[in-house]
Amino acid sequence: LTETAVDPRKYGIMIEVQGERLLADLRALAEFGKEGTGVNRLSFTPEDLAARDWLIERMQAAGLVAEIDGVGNVYGRSPAQSRAVLIGSHTDTVPSGGWLDGAMGVMYGLEIARASIEAGADAAVGVDVISFADEESTFCGTLGSRSFVGEVGETEIATAHNLEGLALTDALARAGYADRPHARLDRDRHVAYLEAHIEQGPRLEAAATRIGMVTSIVGIRRMEVIFRGQSDHAGTTPMAMRKDAGAALIRYAGAVLDGFDAVGGPDSVWNFGHVIFEPGAGNVVPREARILIEYRDTTMAIMDRMEAVIRGAATAAHAAGAVSVEARPMMAIAPADMDPALGRLMDGAAAELKASAMYMPSGAGHDAQHLANHVPTAMMFIPSIGGRSHDTAENTEEADIVLGLRVLAATVTKIGNQVRS
Ligand SMILES: [Zn+2]
Repeated sequence: LTETAVDPRKYGIMIEVQGERLLADLRALAEFGKEGTGVNRLSFTPEDLAARDWLIERMQAAGLVAEIDGVGNVYGRSPAQSRAVLIGSHTDTVPSGGWLDGAMGVMYGLEIARASIEAGADAAVGVDVISFADEESTFCGTLGSRSFVGEVGETEIATAHNLEGLALTDALARAGYADRPHARLDRDRHVAYLEAHIEQGPRLEAAATRIGMVTSIVGIRRMEVIFRGQSDHAGTTPMAMRKDAGAALIRYAGAVLDGFDAVGGPDSVWNFGHVIFEPGAGNVVPREARILIEYRDTTMAIMDRMEAVIRGAATAAHAAGAVSVEARPMMAIAPADMDPALGRLMDGAAAELKASAMYMPSGAGHDAQHLANHVPTAMMFIPSIGGRSHDTAENTEEADIVLGLRVLAATVTKIGNQVRS
């Protein structure tokens, strides 16, 4: 997509979205798995399946051709056009999650598709809507979006299970989805993917800014580093003779923090999420110690430098001799850049609607990062009150929810005008 002058009057396909209708749909969806002010709607639970059935009905009522696919993706197609902007996110939640996370991006898509159909079949491009299955990793992280771009193997589906031990294949079979075809991205049809989401952090609120154009979505890597020494009596063993896995881990962790401070970029974040000492008693020198290190950045080069810090410090600790040290990769998700031209269109849409806006990275993972390698992709953030998310306290001002809808609809209009021109 290129940046060309856009004149909606020339093509006459402004999409007139209705904020009250969007809010009513959002509140109706929040009833499925309602928990206080939040929602508990884990993938493929009865609440999640009922919400998917409800969404199918709402899509059909809006004039879309809607189906649930073999992994649980709810996909609604605009029937009048051969090309479409795809808008979506996810409607599953974490345990005791919020009412907006994911759900809002899907409901934006529904309202924009409905308003687009109401505006008439004259639109250059239609609006397709998708709710991707299991974004929140109950069975298999971002299952739906990775399946949609052909990046989930049969083995991964066959071996995934939830924390209760329920196999994904059994969950899909019980839901009646297992034998259905898998919906796929169609490059001849889908001209762009747009995902709106609450920020889930405090930056927009702190900057008194109402729209965030996401520049890139962070990559995430997780490594476990294991220290193996020897258990001994904590009182009788001279210090020089100890093989103290715990002390080695503590020194190592300090070196990693210093190294991250040195090589990390402005968007880098990291944490030690879990540490364990074995056998774990006050009067025993630790035999084994493990630390879980997670780090995120928007560029592969910085992530590589951070991984070099982890590995280099492990090599140095191992070379010190008292304990053996092993660094094991546990997870790696690549960072993804959003399409700059689409970002500028969104920026222009915000300016036309007099909405304050800024460019920002996403520190959380999203379905959009899996679409970005296959289709021009843009993400929009709106503010989260207090930065709260993945909690029932999650919320956003109604005026911000509606403004975000209008900015996204105006972005779709601009894309449509470019495709036509
Ligand atoms: Zn989400």
